[in-house]
Amino acid sequence: MIDNHNREINYLRISITDRCNLRCVYCMPKDGVSFLGHEDILSYEEILRIVDAAVKTGIIKIRVTGGEPLVRRGITDFLSSLKKVEGLRDISLTTNGILLEDYAEEIFDAGIKRINVSLDSLSPDRYRDITRGGDISRVIRGISKAHDTGFSPIKINVVAIKGFNDNEIIDFAKLTIDKPYQIRFIEFMPVGNSAMENSMGYLSNDEVLKGINSFSPLEPVVPTRRDRTDGPACLYTMKDAMGKIGFISAMSHEFCSSCNRLRLTADGHLRACLLSDEPTVDLKTPLRNGCSNSELGALIENLISRKPGSHKINQQQAHRRKCVTNMSSIGG
Ligand code: SAM
Ligand code: SF4
Repeated sequence: MIDNHNREINYLRISITDRCNLRCVYCMPKDGVSFLGHEDILSYEEILRIVDAAVKTGIIKIRVTGGEPLVRRGITDFLSSLKKVEGLRDISLTTNGILLEDYAEEIFDAGIKRINVSLDSLSPDRYRDITRGGDISRVIRGISKAHDTGFSPIKINVVAIKGFNDNEIIDFAKLTIDKPYQIRFIEFMPVGNSAMENSMGYLSNDEVLKGINSFSPLEPVVPTRRDRTDGPACLYTMKDAMGKIGFISAMSHEFCSSCNRLRLTADGHLRACLLSDEPTVDLKTPLRNGCSNSELGALIENLISRKPGSHKINQQQAHRRKCVTNMSSIGG
């Protein structure tokens, strides 16, 4: 469906759980996170009904995320069912990689070939600090296993933070020299009530790009058809490198005019904008009250028609949060 700002809305991100086996400082507060109960989260059957209805409104692409999607039991069967939904052209997964070594083959066999793994530091100690306890060796083994299993592309998400991992930017870029990975630098976004504001600094992707350019000049990648439908990353490559480097600059270079996404939270709310809690629509209640697929479709279309043209937040206004929901509930 085309929205009121002439954007084709064809991409749905689904958070299948708000739970996570890590506690990244920019995503969750240290303590006091209350997670949804079993009854409150959508069952896989309910998610599949929403997907069926969403496909009829024009959704062709899905990303499964969380919280950490691999901690939810039954994910592989769910992915297999998703794969069978007619009309979907692309299904992918975002994970923190902690359980990836165990799940890579199952997920691949379920038909998912594209995966994003979050990794914000290459130093074991720093990784442990930012994730509040994570073991980087598991993530590294998970990425290798995904590579050996045949996932392609493998994208590695890095939230670049001043004074924390900015001295590792070149090391991340170097990973693309002999591996076909796409390293994607993501600007910190003011979402939810993480500890980030008080302890660390926002870093614009212009600064990240400048840093890499001073090491090795970056050449823009002419987007393939797939890259074009792939989202907001601006892609570059270092000379003779196998992989690519992407920049997702939601704060410094707003890309709302090409935003094609909706987001389904684990508790069944469909959101029109990542950075704003409004507008949303509750799909769980009507689903549980027995609504039909066409009624579901009408609710989705109504939300699309209310999707805002822009989030209108820049870094200077970041304190005026329009989104108090944590990223772990929305799915990124
Ligand atoms: N747990 C999985 C993971 O970490 O990949 C999937 C969910 S996580 C919410 C999805 C993405 O959102 C991750 O790449 C994470 O780094 C990013 N993220 C979380 N909070 C963020 C924030 N405040 N600003 C920018 N990116 C954020
Ligand atoms: Fe968990 Fe992902 Fe949030 Fe980190 S970014 S706390 S891994 S949901």
